[in-house]
Amino acid sequence: MLTDSFDRRFSYLRLSVTEVCNFRCDYCLPDGTDCGAEARAQDLTLDEIRRLVAAFAKLGTRKVRITGGEPSLRKDLVDIIRICKATPGIETVALTTNGYRLAKDIDAWHEAGLDALNVSIDSLDHAKFELITGHNKLQQILQGLARAAELGINNIKVNAVLMKHYNDDAMDDFFDFVKARPITLRLIELMRTGDNEAFFNRHHLSGQAIINQLKANHWQERLPGTHAGPAREFWHPDYSGGIGLIMPYSKDFCNTCNRLRVSSQGALFLCLFVDQHQSLRHLLQSDDSQPVMDFLQQAIKGKTISHNLHQQNPGSTRQLAMIGG
Ligand code: SAM
Ligand code: SF4
Repeated sequence: MLTDSFDRRFSYLRLSVTEVCNFRCDYCLPDGTDCGAEARAQDLTLDEIRRLVAAFAKLGTRKVRITGGEPSLRKDLVDIIRICKATPGIETVALTTNGYRLAKDIDAWHEAGLDALNVSIDSLDHAKFELITGHNKLQQILQGLARAAELGINNIKVNAVLMKHYNDDAMDDFFDFVKARPITLRLIELMRTGDNEAFFNRHHLSGQAIINQLKANHWQERLPGTHAGPAREFWHPDYSGGIGLIMPYSKDFCNTCNRLRVSSQGALFLCLFVDQHQSLRHLLQSDDSQPVMDFLQQAIKGKTISHNLHQQNPGSTRQLAMIGG
């Protein structure tokens, strides 16, 4: 098992399969990205992904989350899911998506072996959704979510970034959304990146205010499991779904870190907010896993105890589409 100098164990790989995205979320890629073939040419190939995931799995990785940019822009996403699922040792294949292709593709993703799905929906109000993402697609995304539930995917989450002036007045709508649906709402504190300083200063909101609201409404906090990640999870007897908070600015957030990240160009990120990352792509050119495993075991020793977001230092991360959040 990959273990760092602070005795944290890493069984979870977040793999970005492209930096490209078709949305223009205000906090991430407000000017969009170039979605052309040239921009995608640098993405890891299927063979490279197969070798990478195999090496991680041999070191104890049990869960792979496919992310981006927007992973569903890859035409071979079904093959990527299938490859991850077929890797000995991998128990859970998850996907984080903006949902743009969800309604069309969820059947194929499910058939390929997708176990868990996170869909980003920052507002349940159609106009606000369009304002944030640049796309009037909420209706189709909700239809895709309903189809995912119909298919029996039982680990479905909706990610929403908490933002003052955008969705802080809409928590009751979000809570209502999970009342009759067995979906977990993941409220994520807005994180400062290299590109979003002004936006962050205007819109950042602490998750503590939401926790107070939840507790006042008789939501109860779950005790974290042994290998639980950094989310704080809440449940309520009258609700089918749950609510989780990701609060990277809270004390001790990094103590439960259980994840490593690899970018779409094959660079290892020991944390979302590092100054430097290390490419391992050159080691993915043969089926021999050992050099990749040696690389990872050496690299993990360099993982620091915490990020430096409290010092307003996001490292070299310009936006989270670079790595996948
Ligand atoms: N495009 C996909 C999506 O939006 O779901 C996957 C990539 S996106 C970078 C992954 C997650 O990171 C999304 O839920 C997104 O809302 C979140 N995210 C992006 N930038 C963020 C930021 N600065 N702070 C907090 N969350 C952020
Ligand atoms: Fe694209 Fe996801 Fe970033 Fe929005 S959050 S711009 S959908 S990568």
